[in-house]
Amino acid sequence: MSNTANILPDLIQAVEKAINDNAVELTELDRAIGDGDHVDNLQRGIQALLAVSDELRQLDWQQALLKIGMTVMSKIGGASGSLYGTLFMTMSKSLQNRPLTAAVFAEIFQKGVESVKLRGKANKGEKTMLDVLMPVSEVLINHTEQADLFDQIKQAALNGSEATRDMLATKGRASFLGERSRGHIDAGAKSSQLMINAVVDVLNLGGGT
Ligand code: ADP
Ligand code: MG
Repeated sequence: MSNTANILPDLIQAVEKAINDNAVELTELDRAIGDGDHVDNLQRGIQALLAVSDELRQLDWQQALLKIGMTVMSKIGGASGSLYGTLFMTMSKSLQNRPLTAAVFAEIFQKGVESVKLRGKANKGEKTMLDVLMPVSEVLINHTEQADLFDQIKQAALNGSEATRDMLATKGRASFLGERSRGHIDAGAKSSQLMINAVVDVLNLGGGT
């Protein structure tokens, strides 16, 4: 991947489309076991990113990831704002001055996901976005065959999101429902899956990693 973040506007637009196209389903999911604001929260963050998208294009990856993190941290309300903010700010910090290769991306994403776990005091299996982010991070770290990396990422994200359906929520608002949280996919896991899917499709078309 290039050393400037000029692909970011395309990625943000793809993420916006993915959330808009699935807004009804996502809102239903957050209504079922949360408070129904997840799509509004994400859209606020995405609009803020679109507004700075020309600026992001000019930055190097470290600066761009920091700006994304600070923007979503301040604009997205709810649990997801501070968690995504933490993810991107930690990725920026971990990048240091290195070029963003596939291996470096895998490493900084892993560090970012670790920081989300710490911030949310959560782990895999608690019916959150981590049930998507962690398996995707594992694929990135462990992959050896470049050929099907994108498919593996998409599959891991989908499996992770689907797996939250039968989980008992022990973190976030859904945990207030106890056993009644079972039977619904977690909204934050589903939106993570959709956003990752959208990003991968853009990168795949561009043929880059
Ligand atoms: P809120 O729950 O404050 O209304 P959102 O609706 O935007 O915020 O986001 C809810 C999503 O955030 C959940 O579906 C879940 O995936 C994720 N989430 C909530 N709490 C945590 C946590 N402690 N760790 C990781 N993810 C969490
Ligand atoms: Mg909510």
